[in-house]
Amino acid sequence: MKITFLGAARTVTGSCYVLECEHSRFAIDCGMHQGNRDIEMRNWDENEVYQPEALDFILLTHAHIDHSGLLPRLVAKGFAGPVYMTAPTRELVEIMLEDSARIQETEAQWRSTKKMRAGDLPVEPLYTVEDAQKAFSRMVVQEYNQSFSPKPGIRVVFNDAGHILGSAFIELWVKEGDKETKLVFSGDLGRPDQLLVRDAQTVETADFLFLESTYGARNHKNEAESRDELASAIKYSYERGEKVIIPAFAVERTQELLYSFYLLHKDGRLPADMPVFVDSPLAIKATEIFRRNWDYYDQQTKELIKKGENPLELPNLRYTLTAEESRSINVSQGPAIVIAGSGMANAGRIKHHIRHNIWKPGASIVFVGFQAEGTPGRRIVDGAQTVRILGEELSIKAKVFTIGGFSAHAGQQQILDWLSHFRSPGMSVYLVHGEHTGQKVLADLIRDKFNLTVHIPDYMDDCLLEKGGRFELTAHPSLAAPRIDWDYLLEETAAKLSQVQERVDYLKRMGLTNQVEIRGNLVAINSRFTTILSELIFEQKQAEKRD
Ligand SMILES: [Zn+2]
Ligand SMILES: [Zn+2]
Repeated sequence: MKITFLGAARTVTGSCYVLECEHSRFAIDCGMHQGNRDIEMRNWDENEVYQPEALDFILLTHAHIDHSGLLPRLVAKGFAGPVYMTAPTRELVEIMLEDSARIQETEAQWRSTKKMRAGDLPVEPLYTVEDAQKAFSRMVVQEYNQSFSPKPGIRVVFNDAGHILGSAFIELWVKEGDKETKLVFSGDLGRPDQLLVRDAQTVETADFLFLESTYGARNHKNEAESRDELASAIKYSYERGEKVIIPAFAVERTQELLYSFYLLHKDGRLPADMPVFVDSPLAIKATEIFRRNWDYYDQQTKELIKKGENPLELPNLRYTLTAEESRSINVSQGPAIVIAGSGMANAGRIKHHIRHNIWKPGASIVFVGFQAEGTPGRRIVDGAQTVRILGEELSIKAKVFTIGGFSAHAGQQQILDWLSHFRSPGMSVYLVHGEHTGQKVLADLIRDKFNLTVHIPDYMDDCLLEKGGRFELTAHPSLAAPRIDWDYLLEETAAKLSQVQERVDYLKRMGLTNQVEIRGNLVAINSRFTTILSELIFEQKQAEKRD
């Protein structure tokens, strides 16, 4: 049996594994790659890489786009099998894929207009709303903790992963000849004591475990401490008459924040004249789905509801659906709390709220989730003086709060606790869904504590899985990290500059209009250089701090 790592390998997005065994070829998750342009190009590689027409079925761990986002693309390109998931995942993934498709359409339209103005051909969206809707017809719901068999010789059980509503980790048994191999895919593992969702279930056996490692190098503070931090952000900006801006994913994080505000309100720690805006049509739809699915919640939440309370309600809660309503928040005066997406401040309405507030000394920017490398969120969290958002270099004067304790991912110790339930001494562990530096820390801890074999696969690595320990990892470094020829690039740049310098005498004799135009272009190039340099120096300082 062979597994190929098609994403979330030494990074956190694009989760996807393809398994090839005696009777079948299938995938677990098919997430969108997000981050810089090179990484996002991987979304377009379906023919060589995913081969959608040759996939028999897909198992989906949960609704987040980094696990489900390529589904419409694969269906449009020939995948015709069923996609298995839990009932709440199905409800959530439908609204998320539709939203994602709308973003793809809008972006393609915007880029097409730009290209056509320059005489180029228009660009196609990655997928359309229609593609997304076609994907819905492939979805098949399965209950938690009930075994099903998508193909002869293959058995699957979804277990609660405690990460978001409907999230699952997967037990998979594959029979080849008279040998049966058991694989466990953790999906994203929740944080125990997370509000709303139940704690992750545990299992005891596996031959191969594919384990997420988002917080491989870090522990979270507890829920109550995190709520105190949130309260201090509110107090800080309320007293200064400014806004608290919270970038948050629309699904789960937004609802948990509402729950936290509900608890703060009960404690008298949320001022009555401080409105809470949920500025995201997707979050509004997701909250509706959460309201319908109380069955899947933890005991604590169910008891609240039995008492007639609703932890997703607040007296001063306002939902803003339209773009006009969203803009009106920015012209409104006085303190307010604004929750909007995306969670890493790299897309969506949150960018506008950050632009309007981050330069104001009394405002707060509160991060409640993981900020991936290369995103504006990560830059702000790392302590930069300025950040570039919507094409503008913004000075950071607002107070920045990073509250890890609201994470929907298990922290380092919690991952180890979950792992401690396994009773399979020969098990091989593969760390996925994490950044490489953190993964190395976690790998060492797992080797030390549990004496298990640990691998950290890279993008497009494949591996023969054979019970009893023999494995073969085929690395594809050129695919994982295409080499950039810096020397060549910089020589080219320097050569062009010297060609301009050689002509400076002639330049000075040109008509003033021409001179002004060339000066304008050179000033623009100069300012790009300033941005590149300041980024480089900032990253260098960060790296020195880490070493
Ligand atoms: Zn997730
Ligand atoms: Zn994920």
